This record gives sequence, C-alpha cells and structure tokens, in this order.
Amino acid sequence: MASYKTIVEDNIDVLVVGAGLGGTGAAFEARYWGKDKKIIIAEKANIDRSGAVAQGLYAINCYMGTRFGENNPEDHVRYARMDLMGMVREDLLFDMARHVDSAVHQFEEWGLPIMRNEKTGTYQREGRWQIMIHGESYKPIVAEAAKKSADKVYNRVCVTHLLMDDNAENRVGGAVGFNVRTGNYHVFKSKTVIVGAGGASNIYKPRSVGEGAGRVWYAPWSSGSAYGLLIEAGAKMTQMENKIVLARFKDGYGPVGAYFLHLKTYTQNGNGEEYESKWFPALSKMVGKEYLDTEGQHLSHKPIPTCLRNHAFINEVNAGRGPIYMVTTEAFQDPHLEEIGWHNFLGMTVGQAVLWAATDVDPKYENPELTTSEPYVMGSHATGCGAWCSGPEDISPDEYFWGYNRMTTVQGLFGAGDAVGGTPHAFSSGSFTEGRLAAKAAVQYINDGKGDGISINESQIEKRKEQIYQPMETYKVYRNHITAGTVNPHYINPRQGLDRLQKMMDEYCGGVTVSYMTNDNLLNIGLKKLGLLAEDWEGGIAAKDIHELLRAWELKHRILTSEAVMQHTLFREETRWPGYYYRGDKMKLDDKNWHVLTVSRRDPNTGEYTLEKAPLYHIIDDKEEKEKPTKKKKAAA
Ligand code: AMP
Repeated sequence: MASYKTIVEDNIDVLVVGAGLGGTGAAFEARYWGKDKKIIIAEKANIDRSGAVAQGLYAINCYMGTRFGENNPEDHVRYARMDLMGMVREDLLFDMARHVDSAVHQFEEWGLPIMRNEKTGTYQREGRWQIMIHGESYKPIVAEAAKKSADKVYNRVCVTHLLMDDNAENRVGGAVGFNVRTGNYHVFKSKTVIVGAGGASNIYKPRSVGEGAGRVWYAPWSSGSAYGLLIEAGAKMTQMENKIVLARFKDGYGPVGAYFLHLKTYTQNGNGEEYESKWFPALSKMVGKEYLDTEGQHLSHKPIPTCLRNHAFINEVNAGRGPIYMVTTEAFQDPHLEEIGWHNFLGMTVGQAVLWAATDVDPKYENPELTTSEPYVMGSHATGCGAWCSGPEDISPDEYFWGYNRMTTVQGLFGAGDAVGGTPHAFSSGSFTEGRLAAKAAVQYINDGKGDGISINESQIEKRKEQIYQPMETYKVYRNHITAGTVNPHYINPRQGLDRLQKMMDEYCGGVTVSYMTNDNLLNIGLKKLGLLAEDWEGGIAAKDIHELLRAWELKHRILTSEAVMQHTLFREETRWPGYYYRGDKMKLDDKNWHVLTVSRRDPNTGEYTLEKAPLYHIIDDKEEKEKPTKKKKAAA
C-alpha cells in the first residue's frame, strides 16, 4: 500500500474543486456572503494559469452592455436558444445573463485592460455579445481575487472522488485527491462542494498527430473531471449528447470569432465560391423552417446557428470542393485590421501565429485554411453539456427548482462553468458569474443548516485511498511482465487507455473519421467496447509514477464522461444539431418527440444508466426587444 502522507482538512464549509473561471468566481463570492466560512480551493495545476483561460483570451464573449444601452439579458437567452436549436435551460441562462455584466466590471477594476471604442467611450465590441480585451493575463488577474478570498489554495491537488455523507442518502460530504508532485493523499471534509473542474478535450481522437499531438481546441488538461466527479456521485446530467465541433484555423486551432465578427472576413470553398447558402434548401428539410427558412435565401435567424454553419462546411468538403478558406486578404489590407488579426492570436493562441510563420502563410496575401475540429464535451461555448442543476427561485418552474441555485441533484453539491448543463454561451465571464451564483447559494445552504451532521466514516476514506494509489501498486507488481515495448498482459497504461477511448469515440460516436456520423448500431457496439475499457481500467490500469497516476485518473473521468455522451446520443432519437453530429438512422430534427431536454443518472452502486426526458420551458418569449435598455450615462463614464 502506498505510504504517502495523509493530509486532512476538516470542517470546511466550502470546497471549490477546480479553479478555472467558474471556481475562481465561486471562491470570490463565497467569501463575500460567508465572511465566517472556511473556504478551500483544490486545483490540479496552479490557479494562476489553470483552466480554459490559462493562456489568455482576446475577447470576453458574454457581455450584455446593459449600462451602455446595448442588450437585455432576454435577448441573450433568445440568441443562445436559437444557436442551440431551441435547447437551453432558459432560467439558468437568464440568471447568468442578468448578472454577467457586473463580473466584467469587476475584472476591469482588478486591472484587466478592456478595449474602449474611442468614439462612444463604451467597450469596444467585436460582435453583438463580444467585447475585446488585452487578455494575456486575464487568468492571473482573476485568480488573485480568488486567492485573496480563500483560506487556502491547494495547487497541484487533483480531486479524484467526492465523499458522500454516511448519515444521509444522497448528500455530499467533501472530496479526496492527491498531490500530483508529492503524492500526498488529501481529504477534505466539507459541508458543500462546488465543482468547476472543467469540460473535456481529448475524448475524441484529435486531428493532430505526431509532433502536433496535444494541440487541441479546448485546454488539453480539461479531462472532463467536472462530469466524471458528478456522474460517479450519482448526480443527474443533461444534454451530454450536445458535443461541439468547432470551425477553426487549420492545425493551430486559432479561433475565428474576431475574424468573422470584427474583421468581417468570410469563407469560400476551394474554387473561391460562396458555398454556405447552397446547402440551406436541403438543410431546411432536415431541421424545419423554425430554424432555417430558405425561401428567397432568407435565413429566419441571424446569426445562423453554429452547428448549421458547420453542416455547410462539412458537406462542401465532403462534396470534394475543399479546402474551406477564410478570406483574409481583403481585410488585412487595412493595417489596423491586420494588426488586430495577429494580436488576436498572440493574446490567446500563440501557436496559430507560430504555425503561420513556420509554414509561410501570410494572411495578407494568402487566405488561410479552416477545418472542423474533433468533437469536445463542454458546456460554456456554443454547447450545453453538464449537470442537471436547480435554477434560481424567482424564475424557475417547479421541475427546474429544488431549493438552491446551481445545486445538482446531490444535496450540497454545486456546479459552475462547464459543470452546469443547459447554459451555453456563458464563456469565461458567464462561467465566473455561475461560480458566484453557486457560491451564494452554497453559503445559504450552510446557513440554513443543510450541511449539519455530516459523517464520513474512516472506511470510506481508507477505501478511496486504496483505490487512488492502486494503479501504482499494479505497476509495481507486474512491471517485470512486459513482453515488448510497453505491452504488458497484466495491465494497460494511461496512454494506451486514452488511445482506445479516442478511437472508439471517434468511430462509434461521431468523430472526424466518420464525418460526425453515428447510429444506434454503432452506439450499441461503442457502449459495449467502452464497458470493456472501463473494466480494464478497474482491473488493471498501471501508473509507473505520480505523473502517470494523474493521467490514470484523468482517463477515468474521461471514460465516465464518454459513457454519458454515448448513452445520451443513443437516447435522443433525432439529429438535433447537424454539424455537431448526425444520427444516420434518424437524420431529421423531430420537434414533436424531442423538443425536450435529456436527463440521465448513473447508479453509483450498479453503474446502470436511466434516461428520461425533461420538459423544455420557454420562459422568454420570441419577440426581440424593440426597446433597448436605458442608457445610464453616468455609470458608463
Ligand atoms: P470563437 O472565436 O469561434 O470561439 O467565437 C467567439 C465568439 O464569436 C463566440 O461568441 C461565437 O459564438 C461567435 N462567433 C464565431 N463565429 C461566428 C459567426 N460566423 N457568426 C456569428 N458569431 C460567431
């Protein structure tokens, strides 16, 4: 048995697991409402450069600008709803949108440089919802507020499991994990846990290979722990089939938002032709006129939903007219726009700029290629995977409300950022806001006495300890049985397991190899194979050192996430998001049967899945507000 030191933090009030933008928002707000509370952060990397914002951002993609008379929160719900083909939790989305501006104002106070429009004095808009920032140091700036708020920040502690109360059914009591440098075992006994541990990259086989391996769109360290932890604790999940595919600059995954929205660049096929609209007539037969009306080439909604833009892209390439180019040569003739184009990457995706330099691509004279990425499982960009959480009391219908905002179906267990399902288009600022909302509710939960009397038996703590270090024991016992290279009949290593996972998600659950196509036969085979991988993980994953131990547990969380994705994809019998994935056996969107949210639960004791449909309530009406919010000149000054 491993002999690493055990460190126990007892009687904590709020444990924040993962300190990306969601977790930092949670720590900050927990301190505001809970001056007397003990607040601890556990972060597997270092809070200054962790999470999806680690390497910076060039825009904050969710800002209403209500004080500048720009948008109402209702408009944002309408936008996100249409972008997601109708499927959002409008209560959660509205709640985030009505609070998000204040988070952005705080970021500016803390030192984040936000660009200003010289003419109007308002923030410089990139698009309707996006504002431009000098954001290379976005994360360290926000992290500082969280560090000042928490009693302690444990960097390099990877949380592997949640602890459950032994006194009450379905109540959380803390979490356990290990230090990825020292190996020490950490036990947190806490009245509430807020999980902001991030979505999932590297679940699907990435396009990048060889020296490019590891270059992916979302943060490569996002291991789906936000999902794995919650699923294993028996929390209900929603919209896990809503994986996202991104149109990106090829191989560097450079983002396109600033180019499309601010530089006003556009795409064309390999022959230099506009291609998107050609696909709309056929597409409107698949999705119906509510989402896309092709009469006279008029689109019923602008912007056209992200997945449908992908659909045109994918089909054009499959028709043999690739590659798809971003037309930059026009915009880049303007020296100011040229500078913005490069800055955009230098501030958040340096790799794309380096790749262009290395491959002699000057976007002023040559239109760069775009591609569609492998799918990702997350919940804060144009997609809404995550836990089924309670909404706020004032606007949520009964089915969406069970006492505390952003609380999962496990008592005392809250989510933020990617962890919360049905809330797409939150991005960085919205995730931070969600953390704030979750923490406020968590403090209320404690003050209401809901976290009293939790008991964690020593046997639970011991059992988890044994499980956590088992991969190192397995390695020790069997390492001499290697037959060739790293092949060992007694175990798999984390890399081998990850390769298997990526291949099966790719081929059976709609990855790039199959042009995002799947069906019930493929999904059933995939689920069987995934079950075998999960068994192999349990029975024999080996870690030769603490670093591999981290990889082993990341793989575990990715496997749990993937199973939920497959189960949900099988359950939703329609193609709701053409361009994100296709159910080849159910190619049409089916509003009659599937205008619903999907909710799953994995039984923590048996591993069995149950799936159900949850009502999709439209709380915000369809009519775009004619009246803009009132300008408050003073506040803007
Ligand atoms: P990205 O740079 O692709 O991550 O996107 C940044 C922001 O721009 C997000 O809010 C996207 O939803 C939005 N966006 C990206 N491309 C487009 C487009 N072609 N039309 C409208 N919005 C877009």
